[in-house]
Amino acid sequence: MTRIPQLLAAGPALSFEFSAPRDPDGVRRLERTLRRLAPLQPAFMSVTYGAGGATRGPTREWVARIRNAFGVEAMPHLTCVAHTRDEVGAIVDQYAADGIDNLLALRGDLPQGSDELPSGAFRYARELAAFVRERTAMAIGVAAHPQGHPLAVSEAADREHQAAKIAAADFAITQFFFDAAHYERFTEQMAARGVHTPIIPGLMPPTNINGIARMSALNGLEFPVSIRERLEAAGENPAARRAVGVEFAVALAQNLLNAGAPGLHIYTMNYSAAPQEIAQAIGLNPN
Ligand code: FAD
Repeated sequence: MTRIPQLLAAGPALSFEFSAPRDPDGVRRLERTLRRLAPLQPAFMSVTYGAGGATRGPTREWVARIRNAFGVEAMPHLTCVAHTRDEVGAIVDQYAADGIDNLLALRGDLPQGSDELPSGAFRYARELAAFVRERTAMAIGVAAHPQGHPLAVSEAADREHQAAKIAAADFAITQFFFDAAHYERFTEQMAARGVHTPIIPGLMPPTNINGIARMSALNGLEFPVSIRERLEAAGENPAARRAVGVEFAVALAQNLLNAGAPGLHIYTMNYSAAPQEIAQAIGLNPN
């Protein structure tokens, strides 16, 4: 199918991210969500990979399903932190044999309770990206953290590591954030370091207070009180909360596109309604 840099060159690209499901209910929900979102003709869809091991297997199956059954370009995520080099090599070779054109190279986080890498494992996403580059012709994406990675020792060190990683990749996708100024500042900081790789902002529609608060805390991000208050004011009705989250996400998306973002990557959490409404409101349909 198509390399993502080529898709981005055609104009702002809409993409959706899904989590590999863990159980039969999750499988049914993802199947339903794909049926609803595929007709929007996103430029690509991506499927996460469980660094801890719980959802490693299904990533490859879902990527194949998205490509074959829905005709949409699909990108697997791959984390390196709990794998040996040989294991990573075998996975990458499988993807190359499957005809995969794009891969998101990530470090991932060690499973809770373990703090040791397998011997000879890659320590950072940049090492994984270099390994995939040497082994295949795939376009390589990496994660970007506009507000810094939670484990970084300093902002300066964080920006240097991120700049080196993003410079060596073909594109980057950001962690979610709630203010377009974070994206603008980050892309300026990268440009100041000579890095002009396309950086696609990741957009998380804030529709579920507890879910977003938990994920924000995990990523060292502040969940703005103003959004929390708007969601609370909408009461317990899920449709009313979704309307608040979608309105917020659409405004953020428009600011990002005005700032020159090469696309929008929507974290769907395997739900279709909010991503569908956002995509329709901003009118991004690159195909
Ligand atoms: P890295 O770029 O390797 O950075 C990790 C840390 O190491 C940072 O603190 C960085 O500053 C530091 N560092 C980097 N290089 C050096 C160096 N040379 N020396 C010293 N320190 C260094 N996780 C999953 O488990 N599965 C997924 O599918 C998944 N998908 C994601 C998709 C996106 C778009 C994003 C933004 C994140 C995703 N994550 C996923 C989460 C990600 O794995 C975590 O954020 C992880 O903690 C960092 O991954 P990374 O690839 O950014 O790591």
